[in-house]
Parts: sequence; structure tokens; C-alpha cells
Amino acid sequence: MMTMLDSLRRIVQQVNAAGDLNSALEVIVVEVCKVMGTEVCSVFLHDTATDRYVFMATEGLNREQAGVASLAPGEGLVAQVAKREEPLNLEAAEAHPSFYALPEIGEEAFSSFLGVPIIHQRRVLGVLVVQQQQRRRFDESDEAFLVTLSAQLAAIIAHAEATGEMSRHGIREFGTATFHGIAGAPGIAIGECVLVRGTANLDSVPSRPCADPEAEVAFFLQCLANVRDDIGRLAKHMAPQLRPEENALFDAYVSMLDDAAIGHEVIARIRGGEWAQGALSQVMLEHVRTFERVEDPYLRERAVDVRDLGRRVLSYLQDATEEDRHYPQNTVLVGEELTASMLAEVPEGHLVGLVSVRGSVNSHLAIMARALGIPTVVGAVDIPFTRLESQQVIVDGYSGDVVCNPSAELRGQYQTLRDQELQFNADIEAQGDEPCETLDGRRVHLMVNTGLLTEVSRSLKLGAEGVGLYRTEIPFLLRDRFPSEEEQRRIYREQLEAFHPKPVTMRTLDIGGDKSLPYFPISEDNPFLGWRGIRVTLDHPEIYLAQVRAMLKASEGLDNLRIMLPMISCLQELDEALALLYRAHDELLEEGFKLVKPPVGVMVEVPAAVYQARELARRVDFLSVGSNDLTQYLLAVDRNNARVADLYHSYHPAVLQALKSVAEAAHAEGKPVSICGELAGDPGAALILLAMGYDILSMGANSLARSKYVIRQVTTDQARQLLDRVLEFHHAREVQCAVDETLREFGVSPLLRSGSIV
Ligand code: PEP
Ligand code: MG
Repeated sequence: MMTMLDSLRRIVQQVNAAGDLNSALEVIVVEVCKVMGTEVCSVFLHDTATDRYVFMATEGLNREQAGVASLAPGEGLVAQVAKREEPLNLEAAEAHPSFYALPEIGEEAFSSFLGVPIIHQRRVLGVLVVQQQQRRRFDESDEAFLVTLSAQLAAIIAHAEATGEMSRHGIREFGTATFHGIAGAPGIAIGECVLVRGTANLDSVPSRPCADPEAEVAFFLQCLANVRDDIGRLAKHMAPQLRPEENALFDAYVSMLDDAAIGHEVIARIRGGEWAQGALSQVMLEHVRTFERVEDPYLRERAVDVRDLGRRVLSYLQDATEEDRHYPQNTVLVGEELTASMLAEVPEGHLVGLVSVRGSVNSHLAIMARALGIPTVVGAVDIPFTRLESQQVIVDGYSGDVVCNPSAELRGQYQTLRDQELQFNADIEAQGDEPCETLDGRRVHLMVNTGLLTEVSRSLKLGAEGVGLYRTEIPFLLRDRFPSEEEQRRIYREQLEAFHPKPVTMRTLDIGGDKSLPYFPISEDNPFLGWRGIRVTLDHPEIYLAQVRAMLKASEGLDNLRIMLPMISCLQELDEALALLYRAHDELLEEGFKLVKPPVGVMVEVPAAVYQARELARRVDFLSVGSNDLTQYLLAVDRNNARVADLYHSYHPAVLQALKSVAEAAHAEGKPVSICGELAGDPGAALILLAMGYDILSMGANSLARSKYVIRQVTTDQARQLLDRVLEFHHAREVQCAVDETLREFGVSPLLRSGSIV
């Protein structure tokens, strides 16, 4: 007998396989009636444009009215369910005070009613209703079934709308529309969308018609043959190390591609008019889902193989069809997940804005965008990005809004805002040569975070007194293999020379988390709690040693190198890292290099390091707080996850307490302390950090001028008063308000808009 769980799985799978929203809803209403044995099932979806609940699909009522009839927000039981955000289960619906039967859909005769809200990320998307003529009290298990189904459907409906795979009736062609994401990098951009897709990603292949199916089939078969050859070669290469039964796996793998199996299904779909990439990804994903659903764990694992196989074929299909992308002068890159290499492909001077469906405030994409000064919105989960190609958009990197097809009036308003912003930036950047000190003469050292592009002259002009964080993984990310020791030496030398005699703080390789190298993939369930930063390099001393040797060699004769270790969570890691570093130093001396010992520091970015800050400080020359990670680990909020972005707040009182205690611990050991997370570049936070005693604030080049400007407006006492005040608060919001108020008092309110970055 089919269990409820089986029914749920089956419905969700069918909904996933549906090509558009209407057919997905059709599946839902038909299947729910069958499973629950009821006469009517309907779906109402909320239309934000009209604020009405549109009758979208039905089994049992008047289908003609689907997409036509609708209810006002206060009307009927559906509105009740939506408003109360909980199920409503009635044996006699007509007796309920809110009962209202929409005459055109023909529901008068149905007495029993069970409605459940469809909620995604606290937003009511619609209501799922079952009805029956005969009086029936839907029981607990009916209710539980519908609630479970609705929770799963909500994510599918929201995602489908967001990606544009499914379009809600009537809004496929939209006029001016505003979508909300998270402000990633401040500024306003007005430009034209260029859509980028991750390569060989089965999940992001759009469906497209093909003009010549037979040619497309031949092309597909050619790519298939290439993959078969690749796997054959791989099998041969591995054969001596494998047992015969393991070798047989390769054969099984290859045979999945045979005409009789998956290949055949793809060809049929191409002949049906779909282009090869679309046909392949649809078929492969269906098989992946089938494998994922089976009980047997061994077979379930095969889903991974099928996905891999699909990716290999897709990669050939995409390589051959890679069209020369055109980047207009005012390109706004839009994609599900944007990466550094996608940005690098845009010709210089053409990139004005970024919109990413994934990501959050302190994702590395957002950090990079801020360093480059490109207005950015991340975590725009609801944006139908596949439908934005070539459209005009406005990216508001202050509020997180993305306006598509803006009216001339709106364009004008944003243009004015942009002009004001440019003027304000020019004004504050003119203070580049002034010292960064408070009105009473307290000096704070401002340094710059580098990695993607040096921006040397710009940061020096803006008053950077050195590099507080050079993210070495970025040159690693832009290659297709590990750079050699000599290649690294050259890159590092360039950086050290550029800032000489000012100090350059180089962080050893910090991969893992959301930074995985294309040639060294790390796949984990919890990457931020996994193999990251120092953990990777200590497990691969050859990588770590080559890197520190390259840094040390590069510093010969310049002596402005500082080395910093990321993700230290215990003293043992630090001891091991130091031992290797000193060994490399000694060996280089033996090899004849003339080197001084560089100052070495530890990044405090894991809560454990906050509690052991004194012990850490005793062993090294300086501490530097990585507030991006420290915030995510203290608050247990993935810095990359848009769903919990509201909870990620570096003004959280617990974060402020941690920051204060690290500064005290470093000073108690007589060591300087810096901060190199994004918080350092927030003008309001600069005041708090200054009062806590931070010696160095290191930030993206584009934040330097603002921070210096605000520091030069206050006295140390005023900053301390603000600190004392905010330490009393229990909520991040209160801290934010107090900081905003202070900035306003000092007449620096134009900076407030940038406050949204923390
Ligand atoms: C941090 O975590 O604050 C930091 C500076 O490092 P990254 O952002 O590169 O993880
Ligand atoms: Mg970090």
C-alpha cells in the first residue's frame, strides 16, 4: 500500500518535472484529490501586483475560471487562511462568519473545507484548499498531509518563479518591476543585463527550441562519443590500481550513455524540438531524482554518478556552443551564482553592476564587488533572472532593490541620486593626504584589503598605510592549477614592491567554505565547518611550505612582509603552522637568502580564538579580527545564505562583546590588534572600533575615504561615549539606531546609506 510519504514524494517529483507553473498546479490539484479521496482541490496564489488571491487551478470546480477569478484580501475563507497563516478545517464552511462562495467557480455546494497556507520565507504565496459536498471532518492526518505538501510546494513555487522556469499566469511579460535582494556593495548602477550561467551546471540550463533537430542529434552524439573516450582513458589509467569488480564500474558507467539507455531518451527529446543542452539536462535530472528516491543506499549513491555523467556531456555541449558574449558599455551581470572569473571576463570599464540570486552581505562576491566599487545586489532569490537578458535595470546597492524596465521618471530619479553620490565621493576622496586622526589627535591606521586587483595607486592616494589583508587565494582562484613557488614569488613581490616601504600583510591560503578552487574541489555537507583555511594547508604542508617560501623569498631586500594565519581554532594549529614557517625561514637562510623574520599574526575569526586570544597573542606579533567569519560563527548564521541574512548582523551585542575582549586581550599581551573584516569599512563601526582600541582598520579601497572622513569629525571622548552607550544595548537594531543617530549628529548623514552593508 502506498504510504503518505510515498504519495508526497510522488507528487513533489511530478511537480518538479512539470515545465511551467500551470502544469505544476494542475498536477497538485489532481493528485491531492486522488490521495485524499476528496471532490475538490484548488490553489489560490497571491498576486502582488493586484494584492488579490487568484484562483489558479482546480479539480472539481469551474476550470474555465482558472487564472480569471480572484478574491480580495479580506474576502472569504481563503483570505482567513492567508491572514492567520494557519490551516482552517471546517465541517460546515457556510456556518463560518467569513464564508463567501465565489459564484463563478461553483463552490456553493461544497460544505466541508480544509485550507492551508502556502508560505515561503515568511511570505504567504497562496492557499491550498480541499472541499467536499458531504459533511466531512478532515482528520488530523489529512491536515498534516496537506501542511507537509504545502511546505514543500512553497519552495518549489517560489524557486520556479524566481528562476523564471515557471511563469505565473499573466506576468511573463512584466513592465516596470522591482525585486528585493540584499545590498551587497553600495552605489547605484543603471545598465543592461547580461546573463551568465555557471558552466556544466545541469540545474541552470534553460529550455530552448532548436531549429534543426537532426543536426542537434548528430552534435549530441559527437559530444557523447567524446565523453565515452574520456571515461575509457580514465579507466585505462586507473586499471592497475583497481580490482576487477571496481573496473567493471567504469563499464557500467559508460553503458549508461548507450543509445538503448539514457542517450536514447535525450535523442527523443531533441527530436521533439528541444535543444541538446536542454534535453540532456532534463533527462539527466529526472534520472538523478529517481535514484535519489530509492531506498537502497548503494543505488541512491548512483545519483551522484548520473549527475557527473550529465555534467561531462554538458561540458562538451557548452564548450562547442560557447557563443561570443557581447558586453555592452554599461553591463550589469546577472546570474544565479556569480564568481570572480565571470567578472574577469567583462572587458575593462564595461561592468557597472552585479545581481546575484545567491549569496549574502559577506559572501566573497560581495566583498570583491565592494573592493571594485561595483554596486551590487546579492541574495535576490525572487528575481526571475533567466528572463532578464538584455533588459534595462537599475541596481540600488544601498537598499538591495533591482528595478527592471524602469520608467523614464524612475530612471531620472536614480540618475540624480547617482550624481549626488559621485559628487559626495569626490569631496571626501579629496582629503587623501590628511592624517587619519580624531579631532583630539588620536591616530588610527587605515590599511587596505587586496587580492583581486591591486589598486595600488588608488588606495595609496586614498591614504592606505599598507595592506592589512592580502587574500592570497584570489590569484589561486584565477588559475587552472596551483601556481608554482616561483609564480607565487613573482606575484607576491609585485605586491610588496608596490606598497614598499609600507607593510603588506599576506594571509596564507584560505580556501574551503565558499572559496573552492576549480582544480581542487572540496565537496562537503557543511563547508564552513569543514576543511577550511589553515586546516587544509596543515594537511598539505607542501602547499603551505611553497607558499610561505614564496612570500619570504619575495620579501628579500624589502622587509615589509607580515604573515597572517586564517581560521586558527586551537593553539596546536598555530604551533604547527609556526614550526613549518620557521623551518621554511631557516632553510631559505641556509640557501643563502638574506631575510629578516617577518611579523606573524593570527586571525581571530572562530569563537574559540576569542576565548584564547591572550594565549594566541603571546605566541605571535599581532592579532587581526576577521569579523566576517567571526560574526557567522558566533551567531551560527551562514554568511552566504540569503535565507538567514536578516540574522547576520555584526552589530549584534555578542559580536561587539567579542570584539572588545579581543582588543583587550591583545593589548594585555602588549600586541597590536587590527580588524580586517568588512565591519572595519563601515563608517559607524569605525567609531566603535576606534573606541575599543583597535590599532588598525583594514578595509576595501572604496571604504577608506568614508572611514577617514568620519574619524576626522569626532573626538576620542565622543567615540567612547558612543561605545559605552552601545554596549548597554541588547539588540543589534538598537546599536544600529544609536550609530546612525551619532553620524547624523556629526553631520555625516550622507554616509548613512552605506550603513546597510553590515
Ligand atoms: C573575515 O572572515 O572577516 C575575513 C577577513 O576573511 P574572509 O572574508 O576572506 O573570510
Ligand atoms: Mg575569514
